[in-house]
Amino acid sequence: MSATLAQGAYIVAGLLFILALAGLSRHESARAGVRFGVAGMAVALVFTVFLATAGEGGSGWLGLLLIVVAMAAGAVIGLDRARKVEMTGMPELIAMLHSFVGLAAVLVGWNSSYEESPYPAIHDVEVFVGVFIGAVTFTGSIVAFLKLSARIASKPLTLPFRNQLNLAAIAVFVVLTVVYVVLPEESVFGRHLLLGVVTVLALALGWHLVASIGGGDMPVVVSMLNSYSGWAAAAAGFLLGNDLLIITGALVGSSGAYLSYIMCRAMNRSFVSVIAGGFGVESGTAASGDEDYGEHREVGAEGAAALLSGAKSVVITPGYGMAVAQAQYPVASLTKALRDKGVDVRFGIHPVAGRLPGHMNVLLAEAKVPYDIVLEMDEINDDLADTDVVLVIGANDTVNPAAAEDPNSPIAGMPVLRVWEAADVVVFKRSMATGYAGVQNPLFFRENTQMLFGDAKERVEDILRAL
Ligand code: NDP
Repeated sequence: MSATLAQGAYIVAGLLFILALAGLSRHESARAGVRFGVAGMAVALVFTVFLATAGEGGSGWLGLLLIVVAMAAGAVIGLDRARKVEMTGMPELIAMLHSFVGLAAVLVGWNSSYEESPYPAIHDVEVFVGVFIGAVTFTGSIVAFLKLSARIASKPLTLPFRNQLNLAAIAVFVVLTVVYVVLPEESVFGRHLLLGVVTVLALALGWHLVASIGGGDMPVVVSMLNSYSGWAAAAAGFLLGNDLLIITGALVGSSGAYLSYIMCRAMNRSFVSVIAGGFGVESGTAASGDEDYGEHREVGAEGAAALLSGAKSVVITPGYGMAVAQAQYPVASLTKALRDKGVDVRFGIHPVAGRLPGHMNVLLAEAKVPYDIVLEMDEINDDLADTDVVLVIGANDTVNPAAAEDPNSPIAGMPVLRVWEAADVVVFKRSMATGYAGVQNPLFFRENTQMLFGDAKERVEDILRAL
């Protein structure tokens, strides 16, 4: 009875999750999407706890108490972290959360290896696959966390034969899985040894896989780990015989895989070359830092305000620096002030601007910038040549002309916002430092570019005052 009820509830929760994803695909319906997701998760939690504790085979009151205590502890820590996290810290928080999914899948896999199943061969494969994906996700996410939070350098680790090492690890995994399935149930030690070896192998593979990806390829890593965490959850769902976990894991896994594909396309990189890693160390990287680009020009807030007053069309291209400075609010005020004067103001959003897919869109929505003037890179790139002034607010790699013009640049081939085609460009940043990919930006030395140094938020506020 309780199992049937839970199955019904799981279908409802699964549908709510699909509605959540559909809702999140557009700005206007995103709030409704989040509500669907919350409702689905509430249904899922209530009925999973119900299934685990009530009725025949349930763990009863004691089990319920343990679950409630564990959930309360998790909720306290989670709420505290979520409340304190800065918008710029979101990517590493997400990477950290992915690592928990991976760890959970490893633990579920190990636990499950002690259980008997009516289909031992299939169950054995599930255990191995679950532990493998879980362990890769676990260490991969930890390395991503360390790189995104700048606790370790983001440059790629390039071991000799790194691709062969990855392939060998996968081959060994396949062979060990077959041995595990064939090994009789009685050889308990041998089976646990194999599982132990695969766990260590997968932990090392996850570490190596993400350590060898660096620089501008990190966006794909974030979405790729998102996908892995989904598959790890789905694998755990198979082991626990929980349909909803399989559905949810598959939704996360496939949407993460699709997002990785979109990010790769946005950066003009193939998925395989991203996984193969080593990006940012090909010929020319060292040279690009030392090259003499000439002199740069500076402008003050008054100068920029004067430029804006005389402009008919303005495009704002925000980047990671806008998130750091939390400049989205004054930027929204500046947009309003200019629009009130009859200036055509639009935003150009690069697909990998910031440190998270959709990072800039979230910030601008938070500051209530109208959606219809926030355009994607492809929608605005051809209009930049007819634009009077482009304000580059804390963006760097995503507006780097070297990507389009210098075949030796480490980011060559990555589509960028062609801001240099505008009549005037004002770049807001604090210094001449490079962006995330560590590549110098020739835009700063162009004749039509002026640098406005300082914190983006303060400088935009200065311009507002001057206007
Ligand atoms: P970048 O990271 O290239 O550059 C940001 C710039 O902002 C820096 O050059 C910095 O210069 C400036 N800045 C920092 N703080 C401030 C501040 N308070 N006020 C003003 N300026 C500031 O940004 P982009 O958005 O152009 O590019 C994103 C990069 O991140 C790409 O290389 C992308 O591949 C990568 N990435 C993207 C992810 C995603 O999913 N979107 C995930 C992981 C990586 P200065 O220090 O001189 O102020």
